Amino acid sequence: LITGAGEVLTSFARTLRLSRKGLDRNRLERAQRQALDRWLTRDLPKVPFYEGPIRPLNDLPVVDKTTQMESFDEFNQLGLSADDIRGALQDGSFRFGTHTIGASTGTSGNRGFFIISQAENNAWLGSILAKTIPDLLWRQQRVAVVLPQNTGLYDNAGRANRLDLRFFDLTIGPERWQRELEAFAPTVLVAPPKVLRHLADEKSAIRPVRLFSAAETLDLVDRTAIETRFGRPLEQIYMATEGLLAVTCRRGNLHLAEESVFFEFETVGDGLVSPLITCFRRRVQIMARYRMNDLLRLSPAPCPCGSPLRWVLEVVGRQDDIFQIPSGHGTVLVTPDILRNAILEADRRIDDFRIVQTEPGRIEIHLKPELPEDAASAALFAIENLVANRNGRAKVVMNRRQLHLETGRKLRRVESRIPAWRAD
Ligand SMILES: [Zn+2]
Repeated sequence: LITGAGEVLTSFARTLRLSRKGLDRNRLERAQRQALDRWLTRDLPKVPFYEGPIRPLNDLPVVDKTTQMESFDEFNQLGLSADDIRGALQDGSFRFGTHTIGASTGTSGNRGFFIISQAENNAWLGSILAKTIPDLLWRQQRVAVVLPQNTGLYDNAGRANRLDLRFFDLTIGPERWQRELEAFAPTVLVAPPKVLRHLADEKSAIRPVRLFSAAETLDLVDRTAIETRFGRPLEQIYMATEGLLAVTCRRGNLHLAEESVFFEFETVGDGLVSPLITCFRRRVQIMARYRMNDLLRLSPAPCPCGSPLRWVLEVVGRQDDIFQIPSGHGTVLVTPDILRNAILEADRRIDDFRIVQTEPGRIEIHLKPELPEDAASAALFAIENLVANRNGRAKVVMNRRQLHLETGRKLRRVESRIPAWRAD
């Protein structure tokens, strides 16, 4: 953790400075613009995909995950291909020389890879500390991070002056590390919501002072259970293979990481947007106008906390999980938040569910066997109604089963298994 402490501190200080209370939005945008222009001139042309004359951001093509993964070597300075990364990861290595590599937890055909330098890794750590626990660092903290070990990002776990950082591998399941976690007694815990929910349901004895949900969409049902058990507000770190994208402030509002990422937004409908991100502090792997799969609802107003960073009312889910339902007049689109709310509002006893579109005309609802029959019927009726109100033609099927903690993949309570729809 000590190696590169200078980079950690620089990034820590910059993040605090650019997100500080009362900073004028124009000043933030000016700093952002300067860093972005420098990056477009100096760093972007160093990878083959962007060779040639220097162009303003608006003239660059929008890049999606498929494009970047198919020609991965053209987007990084080392010329590494996706196969190189895949091979190294298969050998259980998260390093390429001094660089850190990793993959998203997507299905095998849809995995995203990343590569960052040691300096970028340190900057990332500085930024995340500045956004999460700057006020706690005056005394010793034990930080536990539970995430899939498919990345080397957390390799520099260890002890520093006021920080004891320990990593727990989600993919091997909590039964393997839960006791160790409890013995460690973290003061700060970062984990996907399903893990926090699992610890809450198991009545785990840990008593963290700060709790962060990370890596997956946070559902209200989980939030309530977690906050009730631990007696603390649940905060959020919104990150992806693409990097650190947003973190909640002390008011609980999720602010975009605009000090290191330039955001553009594509309108999807129903007030939802999908972000294009430009990571203007990353040099090794270039991400410019990169299209994310996520659906966000942005806040129209500044946050009362005084930060100049824009904030997100809700991360609704993934664009791929929008249901596409045939109707008499073409295809009807239903976003994940509408489906989730319809089920949860059908009966207050529903505290977990899955809803899956398995084919255009078929939607499956999965509920626990112990849920009373009338609650399950209400959920079925709510979804049938939702489909009917939009003149959709889909059969809704009920499936009662145990909904176990799955550690090998991201939890998607709302999931579409039919080929992706795009807003363009
Ligand atoms: Zn705020």
